[in-house]
Amino acid sequence: MLSSVRRNVAVLGATGSIGSAALGVLGSLGAPYSVWGLTAHSRIDLLLKQIGEFKPSVAAITTSDASILDRWGKASIDKGQTRLLQGPDALIEIAEHPDVDIIVAGIVGSAGLVSSLAAARAGKTLALANKESLVVAGPLMTQCVRENQAKLLPVDSEHSAIFQALASGKSIDQVSRVVLTASGGSLRDRPVADLDNASVQEVLAHPTWSMGRKITVDSATMMNKSLEVIEARWLFDLDPSKISVVIHPQSIIHSMVEFVDGSIIAQLSPPDMRLPIQYALTYPDRIPGPARKLDWSAPLTLDWKPADFERYPALALGFEVAKAGGTSGAVLNAANEAAVELFLNGMIRFTEIATVCRQVVQNHNYDPSPSLEELFALDKWARCEVQRWKQSECKQLT
Ligand code: NDP
Ligand code: MG
Repeated sequence: MLSSVRRNVAVLGATGSIGSAALGVLGSLGAPYSVWGLTAHSRIDLLLKQIGEFKPSVAAITTSDASILDRWGKASIDKGQTRLLQGPDALIEIAEHPDVDIIVAGIVGSAGLVSSLAAARAGKTLALANKESLVVAGPLMTQCVRENQAKLLPVDSEHSAIFQALASGKSIDQVSRVVLTASGGSLRDRPVADLDNASVQEVLAHPTWSMGRKITVDSATMMNKSLEVIEARWLFDLDPSKISVVIHPQSIIHSMVEFVDGSIIAQLSPPDMRLPIQYALTYPDRIPGPARKLDWSAPLTLDWKPADFERYPALALGFEVAKAGGTSGAVLNAANEAAVELFLNGMIRFTEIATVCRQVVQNHNYDPSPSLEELFALDKWARCEVQRWKQSECKQLT
């Protein structure tokens, strides 16, 4: 049974796919959980609705866009009940606040790193969906967690599965391999020769998961799995050579751990992020929740096949980056964020995402043990490089 100890939760990125799912779980959990804080970047209307429903102590809009902030300043809510903050620094204030016990890190992209680090520094329980925090700054994040006795609990379904498979107290030395499953994304059955022409709409039509736009594109390129290989590398202190990826179209097996004696433990459940979110919130307890359950009265076939590196060049790059470590993760992540945005705006082709990412990673000034400042500078540099690459491509075509 769950103890009655108070758990004040702040959901960062509350208006997103993970944030909304987390609020669904928190609504169903009820006391001793309470929604203490909420943040959104730009979607004021949805945030106001969430404030009305959950009545948090603090809510923040984190954009620096003046017109959005102006609307936020004029928002009509009961100010006696919810303190309103604005701007990116609000994330740090919330992540470190002494009244907060658990931070749900649901911001997309490297924009989530600073608040993840702040939560770790303040010794909080960090339910981490923002995989980019570990991709960009894995060693700094894990060191910060260790030094401040913070608790880092994975929300990403694959990593939650691995965490659950390891929960029976087995040490990582007894693991011979971790197998991450991947749906293969929206284009998994499209001929490789035809991937060039994939439209934004086709790429965003994910077969099994409903997620934010950026991760849905990452799922189609398999950059998402690359980021997850790097995430697993830091989260579980795993050598990348011990990580494999298989395509599992049903998205029911969320990952598997093979032990040195050949035994394999998998975690299975229907594709529904509310389960890994809830497990991170209630860990180590399990209690009934809103996540979908498997229908045992229906027949079910589960299959998988090895991932094809020709179809998914971003995956090969991800393994190289995981092995290289140092600055490579930050550069890959920033290049990918910039390239995905260009793709979503119709400025580059689907297949160019992996091409430009490889080029930017190869051209960067590698450092095996960078500082946070260096990582931030490289994040900026990589985004500029993607723009520069795009402009030179345009020149060649005219
Ligand atoms: P969404 O795009 O749906 O939501 C992103 C959230 O982050 C929104 O609340 C958005 O605010 C906020 N945000 C965007 N930019 C910034 C910024 N610069 N500063 C602060 N906040 C910002 O993303 P997802 O929920 O899909 O993904 C969130 C994270 O979880 C990602 O790291 C993703 O990889 C990971 N993840 C997601 C899964 C899923 O099922 N969706 C599964 C596993 C991991 P607003 O909308 O108000 O602008
Ligand atoms: Mg995942």
